Amino acid sequence: MRVIIAGSGLSGLVMGHCLLRAGIDDFVILERRPDPVERSGSVIGLFPQTFRVLDQLDLVDDIKKLSPPLHHWLHLDSRGRTIYDGEFFDCLEANHGHPSTLLMRRDLMEVLYSKLPDAERRVFPNKKVTGIEQDDSSVTVTCADGSTFKGDVLVGCDGVHSAVRRFAIEQPRGELKPPLRSEYRGLFGSCPRPDGLAPCNVTETHNTGIVFMILCTEDTAFWLITHRKDKGAPDSQKYSAEDIQALVEKYENHSVAPGAKITFGDLWRARDPVPGPGMYDYHEGVAKRWYNGRVVIVGDAAHKMTPNLGQGGNNSIEDVASLINQLNALVKEKPSPTTAELEGAFARFQKEREARVKFIAGMTGRYTRWTSWRNWPSWFMQYWVWPLLGDRFIVNRLLSPMIRESIKLDFVEEKHLPAGKVAWKYR
Ligand SMILES: Cc1cc2nc3c(=O)[nH]c(=O)nc-3n(C[C@H](O)[C@H](O)[C@H](O)COP(=O)(O)OP(=O)(O)OC[C@H]3O[C@@H](n4cnc5c(N)ncnc54)[C@H](O)[C@@H]3O)c2cc1C
Repeated sequence: MRVIIAGSGLSGLVMGHCLLRAGIDDFVILERRPDPVERSGSVIGLFPQTFRVLDQLDLVDDIKKLSPPLHHWLHLDSRGRTIYDGEFFDCLEANHGHPSTLLMRRDLMEVLYSKLPDAERRVFPNKKVTGIEQDDSSVTVTCADGSTFKGDVLVGCDGVHSAVRRFAIEQPRGELKPPLRSEYRGLFGSCPRPDGLAPCNVTETHNTGIVFMILCTEDTAFWLITHRKDKGAPDSQKYSAEDIQALVEKYENHSVAPGAKITFGDLWRARDPVPGPGMYDYHEGVAKRWYNGRVVIVGDAAHKMTPNLGQGGNNSIEDVASLINQLNALVKEKPSPTTAELEGAFARFQKEREARVKFIAGMTGRYTRWTSWRNWPSWFMQYWVWPLLGDRFIVNRLLSPMIRESIKLDFVEEKHLPAGKVAWKYR
């Protein structure tokens, strides 16, 4: 079976590794960027369930080496006073064995790329997918440079504005309206970690309509400033340097650290120039249908959630595991499956993932609204109820039941499975 993957982002590269584990080594990855590896200045948090899949792919040691585990998640008010200081990540690790870590995104992508056997031969940069045609026996992808690639299956790992979703699922099925809305926008950037913000911790400062999340590695402080958009603002906007400056000027004196010792302006003035800060809409939405014929989508192409709980990438990897389990079972039985058989496998994949993804996307959307005090019930929830419940309760009752049900590859051994208090559903 020949598989074409669109996009060499997180799910595209993990897909490549998983295909090899399933013995499917005839695949190509088409990437629109000139560089096969995404080298953004952003960070990504990985949760314990993702380490299970990375372990099955023999990547866990390389990735754990990149950064020490996260510990606390500290919540502050606008005067730098502690609302509560939770042992969020320590509780997660105690429950599930594996840690949660914060990685430079480019380091993670470099490991995924460099450890993919024959990556130079399989990953094609400068290949923007611009057209897709399929018949009963194959699918053909056309790229912007006129090149074409023919395969048995196309997997769209091409992110939130997925061309694969548009050309191969929405348009042929007459579902033209994109399923994405956005009520929030985020300003992202980084600077050297200042002394007043502890390494390997997350610090959130809350206020009405805004939350400043500062995620610190040993050396670097990454900021994710979530801001509620004006009522009636369009769902998709491009933000100029002036738009960013306007937000910075409004909030530059806002405290972002314990004791109000550091303001957002301090971080802004120390900002790393490359790649520099950026502002984006937080799209939210789950596509109605994730497959059509020989084409299937995973990751952000299928579901987009707010980044405040760090679930989008972890769920993209879980999608890949679920889809590969289905494909592996199918091709072991039928090496050249028909379109109907492939659709059956894709339908089982969507069924396995959709309700869970909707639940998680809903949870992270609510978290975004609570923590940026959207209205007084959100403020009440975040300021009074959460501290009263405490992280132990929140992790044990809300997150761990979700994490324990995560899907891993069902045909590959795990080499390291550290003991935790909560039993995994899939052993
Ligand atoms: C600031 C921020 C912080 C985040 N933090 C976390 C976190 O801590 N934890 C977490 O789990 N998630 C996090 N996320 C979400 C996570 O980054 C995404 O969910 C994840 O990257 C999705 O992976 P993907 O492979 O589906 O899409 P992407 O990573 O977006 O990859 C898509 C790839 O497809 C390529 N592409 C696009 N169109 C085409 C085309 N037409 N032809 C060919 N190639 C194409 C793109 O260039 C890209 O390489 C965060 C997101 C943001 C914005």
